[in-house]
Amino acid sequence: MPAINLLIPTLFISHGSPMLALENAPTTKFLRGFAAELPKPSAIIIASAHWETDDPMVTGAVRPETIHDFQGFPEKLYTLRYPVSGNPALANRVQSLLAVAGFKAAIDPTRGLDHGVWNPLLLMYPVANIPVIELSVQPKQDTHWHYRIGQMLAPLRKENILIIGTGNLTHNLREAFRGHHTKTPPWVTAFAEWVANCVAKGDIASLLDWQTLAPYARENHHTPEHFLPFFVALGAAGSPFQAKHLHEDTALGVLAMDAYAFAS
Ligand code: ZN
Repeated sequence: MPAINLLIPTLFISHGSPMLALENAPTTKFLRGFAAELPKPSAIIIASAHWETDDPMVTGAVRPETIHDFQGFPEKLYTLRYPVSGNPALANRVQSLLAVAGFKAAIDPTRGLDHGVWNPLLLMYPVANIPVIELSVQPKQDTHWHYRIGQMLAPLRKENILIIGTGNLTHNLREAFRGHHTKTPPWVTAFAEWVANCVAKGDIASLLDWQTLAPYARENHHTPEHFLPFFVALGAAGSPFQAKHLHEDTALGVLAMDAYAFAS
């Protein structure tokens, strides 16, 4: 009889534009609906592309603020808040777990939650009653580094703690803001399909080497920070892993909005 794995999965979510929470896009609907299919988490640890540091940082605030880390959007977006609790004790544990692997992780007691975090969580858990701590990414480091961070956090899944990476499967903002893409271009589709194939095959080695192996890697990620959270989620799932391709869509013509659940 196959083993029954009851551990909560890990997630990679593409958060798209800050307007996500106010839109009626397919990704908005997806995020509103699918949390009901997950076990209710006891807490959330979410690694965001919008917090870049040299060493891992974790939010330690009791009540992290909602950061409106964008400019030039409609006024209504700046009125949105995600009034969730932090979890300083969990932040301490994350710091300790990462220290075991040699990471110089630190806690930021004042930092709030950026839009990569609160925008999707506002849709997934609108009641805001699950404590959240945010984790930074380190764009100067590689995929193995972020995969290792995920591995070190994996034991927390036994306590029903949901580990999420929030970024974007593809992220060419220059092309997105040019706004002339009425149809998803092949260089975006090819990249998204390559990732989906590697995930389906459980090919961790190729995924970790995406900057060399994936088609149009540089066109889709001029800088890697929006794909690095994927590896935190993947590492926390363990190896070998199982995956579910939860969602796919394209925003602004070129931003692949794929979401994945990983489990082992
Ligand atoms: Zn973003």
